[in-house]
Amino acid sequence: MSVQDNLIKASHLIDMNDIIREGNPTLRQEGLDVTLPLSDEDIILGEKMLAFLRHSQDPVMSEKLGLRGGVGIAAPQLDISKKIIACLVPKEFDTEEAAEMTSDAYRLATIMYNAKIVAHSVQDAALADGEGCLSVDRDVPGYVVRHARVTVEYIDKNGDTQRLKLRGYDAMVVQHEIDHTNGIMFYDRINEANPFAIKEGMLIIE
Ligand SMILES: [Zn+2]
Repeated sequence: MSVQDNLIKASHLIDMNDIIREGNPTLRQEGLDVTLPLSDEDIILGEKMLAFLRHSQDPVMSEKLGLRGGVGIAAPQLDISKKIIACLVPKEFDTEEAAEMTSDAYRLATIMYNAKIVAHSVQDAALADGEGCLSVDRDVPGYVVRHARVTVEYIDKNGDTQRLKLRGYDAMVVQHEIDHTNGIMFYDRINEANPFAIKEGMLIIE
């Protein structure tokens, strides 16, 4: 049974044991484009990846499954060398009461096939607190220099081509995951000599 067949079994919930860690060569390969029309297997894998993120952010499920919280995951992290990513960014609420008043708790909840950046700002940006990765079990401090704004083109789960403009935190998350489908790790984008160097005009996202 292939890795993917195993992961998409109805009874299987993706957990940390399914996630490969740095040093595994799959993380350094460029993933293959998925073929269209999307296969049932690729559709189910995408759904499973998004479910993993939902579980990882849920206090009960994350404890039960022993998950690290995540806002994005890419198929190569599951040892599947394909261009499939899922992103789940929760909305930020001022109060718990405000959070409970909406059923729409996510700012970005998406599965993207063959996602690529088709346009980007000249301005760079980085998250003030740096980045982490489910495949990296250590802190790597420093600014991960990315595009401040990107336009991403991808195939959605219905097989339709979509274009999405992103900025701020969402743009950083999606770029991190697209990087995984191209064999790039977040720390490749940290200035080695001076991890907290700020290029002129670079936006720091708090
Ligand atoms: Zn990652």
